[in-house]
Amino acid sequence: MVTDPAELARLAHEKEAENLEFRRFVKEHHAGPELLHVIGAEVEAAVDCTACAACCRHLRVEIGQDDLDRIAAFLKLRPAEVRRMYTEADPAGGPLLLAQPSGECVFLHQRVCLIYDVRPAACRHFPYLTPHENSLGARAESISRHAWFCPIVFNALEEFKRRAGFHPHSGR
Ligand code: SF4
Ligand code: SF4
Repeated sequence: MVTDPAELARLAHEKEAENLEFRRFVKEHHAGPELLHVIGAEVEAAVDCTACAACCRHLRVEIGQDDLDRIAAFLKLRPAEVRRMYTEADPAGGPLLLAQPSGECVFLHQRVCLIYDVRPAACRHFPYLTPHENSLGARAESISRHAWFCPIVFNALEEFKRRAGFHPHSGR
């Protein structure tokens, strides 16, 4: 299992061509989402997200009204106040949680989510490898996009390749 951030980034970069080839393989062989869901659950159980928090440093989180309501109740604020203090508008969708100057989520403090128990649905579901609304299925392109920083995605993708019987000709 690869979890070191530098090694993850290096390997993901090294495997870019291989991952492209795997996208074609998935399409041609109609590799269904079920296998990925099984592998995703296995890898998620083996990785400690609380020791990582890379997604909180690298992704912007879109939130919905349910998220706002939960966070507001937790912080003892009104939803409109949470929206004003902790989010910014995104022309492409719903409001986004603010980022700190470092790029980290506004609620991340020393790798700890300050609102963990009420974190947005997008945070709870990332990296979308197990079955639920918006899960990735076998869309290898969506998966490999996050492999450079997420240990769950990288290791699940590698295991998915192995169990699907993929033998790369490139990207080594
Ligand atoms: S709300 Fe919490 S879990 Fe979600 S990105 Fe921010 S720090 Fe991470
Ligand atoms: S989902 Fe991935 S990037 Fe986010 S904390 Fe867990 S292992 Fe790290």
